[in-house]
Amino acid sequence: MDQAAARYAATITEAGLRSHLEVLASDAFEGRELGTPGEKKAAAYIVEQFRGFGIGPISRAQERGLLADGYRQQFPVERVRMGGLSMRVAGKEFTFGKDLLYFQEALTHALKVPEVMLLGPVTAGGTRLGGGSKVVMYWAAGNTGLMEGKDLLAALSGTGTEVLLVVNDSAGAFMARFGESLLRGRMQLAEGGGQREGKDMQLVVVSPEVARYMLQAAGMKEKRALKESARKRVMVRVPVEFAYTNRSERLTGENVLGYVQGTDLRNELVVVSAHYDHVGKIDGEVYNGADDDGSGTSAVLAMAGAFAKARSEGNGPRRSMLFLTVSGEEKGLFGSRWYTDHPVFPLDSTVADLNIDMIGRTDTVYGDSSRYVYVIGSKRLSSELGAVVEEQNAAHVHLGLDYRFDSDDDPNRFYYRSDHYNFAKHGIPVAFFFNGVHADYHGPHDEVDKIRFDLLLQRTLLVYYTAWAIANRDQRPALDAGKGN
Ligand SMILES: [Zn+2]
Repeated sequence: MDQAAARYAATITEAGLRSHLEVLASDAFEGRELGTPGEKKAAAYIVEQFRGFGIGPISRAQERGLLADGYRQQFPVERVRMGGLSMRVAGKEFTFGKDLLYFQEALTHALKVPEVMLLGPVTAGGTRLGGGSKVVMYWAAGNTGLMEGKDLLAALSGTGTEVLLVVNDSAGAFMARFGESLLRGRMQLAEGGGQREGKDMQLVVVSPEVARYMLQAAGMKEKRALKESARKRVMVRVPVEFAYTNRSERLTGENVLGYVQGTDLRNELVVVSAHYDHVGKIDGEVYNGADDDGSGTSAVLAMAGAFAKARSEGNGPRRSMLFLTVSGEEKGLFGSRWYTDHPVFPLDSTVADLNIDMIGRTDTVYGDSSRYVYVIGSKRLSSELGAVVEEQNAAHVHLGLDYRFDSDDDPNRFYYRSDHYNFAKHGIPVAFFFNGVHADYHGPHDEVDKIRFDLLLQRTLLVYYTAWAIANRDQRPALDAGKGN
């Protein structure tokens, strides 16, 4: 069997890896951001490569509705953008990010009130909150308002209050810091139709200028109103209107699956994974993510080609292989989470996940000439899997295997930060291959011309030989005592 392993290893070359990476990490793919046209282009490229290797669609999964076209596993994503809520006080418009800020939207309908209840520090802490006011404004001295605001939300819950305005001296600083990113939005998996959490009250942070405007418009003096509000309920008689437009949108992410069926042990599955998405375009600049994780995606494609060729020549693996390129990693490991929550092949017959994220460069710890790779998690669930990685490295590749990040007290927490973790949490043995971070990590200069193709090839071969060994051994890697589910 070893001779066959080496024969198909020879199909994996620097030139082949480069040809994949030059496409995936080109500007035409617009940084491959989840849910964007760039992601779709990359997915289409991967499907086309699988087809070219003779890897057919997974028809059974397609028939069961699990895969769109036998290759693509689609998952729903919501881009949640704040700023849909606007506020008018006596006809004057206040805007998100400038006058007001919030981190979650709960009020998703229009609301108009003729007055606002003003709470001062003592009324807030005491028992005189009462209810019946749809809009409550909490104004305490200094910057303590926001934390207390969260307690107030709980205290006011169920009293009919829909909006709690918290006046904060630092509101302007918050807005400068978070406003733009909240307007740009963040993505989340849209499980269960993407409904919002059941918050019944809207917390809005406003600047003191907004509060002052309200008092002025109501013909009230600031000092006196605040003083009174410390003793009793004070009503600010000014019309306040909220309007809401949903700025969020539904998107679709796609994992792309290439399946090479095994022979006598075909019901067991070895997964080789990498994320093909990256962070997209930021301020008009394309972030190509050549190392992150164009390198891993190219490696997975090269291995898929090698295994497919082996099978077509009668030397296919005993266990089935799943070449799984996932999306949405950059947003929070969405694609791998979706796959393991909606597995196309049973998780209990999935024997290992070998995951690759960034294997095309060197980091700041190692010099340019170093032949190394960080291995993470390979001994955590199955020391047998860890041993296979070492055996195969010693037999074929001779890289320095560095385990420094493979520790629970690693402050970087890399074990939890890439897609293998979604397999590990289901008790599936994993090994994660990684070159460490560098100055271009998540920057606009993570480009193909900085890739060390000699190292990319060696690291790919380590994963390839490990996959080959796992796929062809008599026994699947055993879980160590007390590990797994
Ligand atoms: Zn990555």
